[in-house]
Amino acid sequence: MGQYGVRMVEGPNVRLGNGVELLGGTKCYFDPVDIGHSGIYCLSHAHFDHLPSKMLGDEVICSPITQRCAQDRLKRKLKIKEHPQVKMLDSGHILGSNMFLFEGEQRVLYTGDMCPRDRLGLMGAKPVKTDTLILESTFGLPRYIFPPREEMERTILNWVEDRLASGRSVAVLAYPLGKSQEMLMLFKGMDPYLYGSSLLTTQLIEDVGVEFSYRPFDLKRAEGPFLLICPTGVRRTSFIESLRKKGMLTISISGWAIDPSFKQRMGVDETFPLSDHADFNDLLWFTEKCEPSVVYTHHGFERDLASQIRTRLGIDAYPLVKDQRSLLEF
Ligand SMILES: [Zn+2]
Ligand SMILES: [Zn+2]
Repeated sequence: MGQYGVRMVEGPNVRLGNGVELLGGTKCYFDPVDIGHSGIYCLSHAHFDHLPSKMLGDEVICSPITQRCAQDRLKRKLKIKEHPQVKMLDSGHILGSNMFLFEGEQRVLYTGDMCPRDRLGLMGAKPVKTDTLILESTFGLPRYIFPPREEMERTILNWVEDRLASGRSVAVLAYPLGKSQEMLMLFKGMDPYLYGSSLLTTQLIEDVGVEFSYRPFDLKRAEGPFLLICPTGVRRTSFIESLRKKGMLTISISGWAIDPSFKQRMGVDETFPLSDHADFNDLLWFTEKCEPSVVYTHHGFERDLASQIRTRLGIDAYPLVKDQRSLLEF
């Protein structure tokens, strides 16, 4: 701590402003709120909480899948750019999602949303040696520890197969980008139907050259029992309600299923804790393997995770919070 309780930090200047900003010689913005003309703009993936709300410029560092999905969501064209100081790495969160390694005087790794586990055709995020780690904190509390993934996948498959065998249709409520495609991989061979924005988003990703096996849902032709993958947003619509009246069951698959209230909140028949994010142990493991001298946590339980990293790993860690002007204010 310096004078006035202010911590003096050497090295890169990181702050939460226009997304996560890396200040200094080269201005770099990770998941910026605002895409301008000067500086480097890095887009980790096209989930709404990571997309810009304003665009003056249109050049971004991102994958072709992120470009395709972001263009559709923003209704704006994006140009893919490269920069010699920025390396894109798999973040293992959803198809086409990336972490960014900035190599200047020091190395800075920005994870975006990430999952270090290989799963269903996705490469998990691999730790890299870095001076500064900017780490997501979605499941950054000790209670978020997920059951072994293969075991959970088997449990889900068995549950669904049993219900279909007993004549009940099943709808899997899934986020259109990421979870819907993961479910297509999980239920490969079970001839799933796809509906609504889950279908449209999958078709966008297919434009970039990824193939899936499914049938577009057609109410007139669908004869039960069937398996349907549809967006979470339709769960309280008359579309779902009319199918539930005919005996269809609904399930939700998410890391939040660890919370006992999740099932009731979602209003579904069953929930399963399977996530496209790192769990608490994964976050600690990943941090340790990157051997950073400082960690900045953000996007979730950033305060709790920073304090857990400090006490459990003995690594300097600070939450990135809004309105702090620079690192000097930690
Ligand atoms: Zn995400
Ligand atoms: Zn996110």
